[in-house]
Amino acid sequence: MRSKKFIFAVFALLCISTLASAFTIVIDPGHGGDDPGAIGCKSKEKDLNLKIALLLGEKIEAECPDITVVYTRKKDQTLTLKDRPRIANKNNGDFFISIHTNSAQSTKACGTETYILGMAKAGANLEVAKRENSVILLENDKESYQGFDPNRPESYIMFEFLQDQYNDQSLLMADLVQQQFAKKTDRENRSVRQDLFWVLHQTKMPSVLIEVGFISNASDENYLISKKGQNEIATAICEAVKQYKYEYDKKNNGKYQALKAEVLDSELPTYRVQLFAVKEELGANHPSMKGEKNLTFFKENGYFKYTSQPVGNYEEAKKLHAALKEKFSDCFIIAFYKGEKISVKKALSIKK
Ligand SMILES: [Zn+2]
Repeated sequence: MRSKKFIFAVFALLCISTLASAFTIVIDPGHGGDDPGAIGCKSKEKDLNLKIALLLGEKIEAECPDITVVYTRKKDQTLTLKDRPRIANKNNGDFFISIHTNSAQSTKACGTETYILGMAKAGANLEVAKRENSVILLENDKESYQGFDPNRPESYIMFEFLQDQYNDQSLLMADLVQQQFAKKTDRENRSVRQDLFWVLHQTKMPSVLIEVGFISNASDENYLISKKGQNEIATAICEAVKQYKYEYDKKNNGKYQALKAEVLDSELPTYRVQLFAVKEELGANHPSMKGEKNLTFFKENGYFKYTSQPVGNYEEAKKLHAALKEKFSDCFIIAFYKGEKISVKKALSIKK
């Protein structure tokens, strides 16, 4: 009886720990510091972007404990355009959200729009992309952009062979964001668009760039300055993030169920590489995980023991061990059989 309970506990832990998949959102408040972005009658873009971004992060942290929030900036600070994707990539983000405020010659233009990376419609003049990319011109180290000049249409040739493997996910989030704007705000819905943004091109994850309204339009600017407006915009984006995460988990659960079945049904032992043990369960993307995704844990003697995913044979486990040893010098191979941890020696003696 005791051992059955133990087996159940191990399975429950394996399942819980893998189901609550690690997910990191990188929030990028556009501009900042020396770069004010667009300027309105009463406000600067960099300040509006930051306020909405911080509010969004706060909401996500309060409502989604399984999502880690990373910011590219949390204060009025100058960042190069390159810094932003670099921060996102370094933190292994699962989604990148860049927040901007629009501006136009005509003071009548108003409303929200969300961009994904892609070729603009024929005839579009790259107005928004040019403006958002133009921060490069303020930087000293222009060479590192490989001659990219945001104002020269020829420069956009570098995007020509664009193959965006994250297109579907980016589009899903963009749609959700605009739907939520329509639901939760009274702003005009300028819908989902695509254009060639440097930051979206450089992030190795699905991404969107949200223009939360026009600073050049009096009604939009007053709305974006107001607590009510900022709150509605942040709430709408947070809601879209929650829906996106729900879809993401639904998709990934298939994988975890396969893992569960493998452990439950296997007539042969499975092997894992144990990386470290800690007294408390760690949050997603904890620094101790050193950027490794899909870690799982089991609980033993009061410790949470973090391991790789299981593999079906010892040779594979040895390869995995060799690879992980570079980051986790003390890691070692362990074995499970029918839900119980057994010695590797015993596991090797079990034949079909
Ligand atoms: Zn901007």
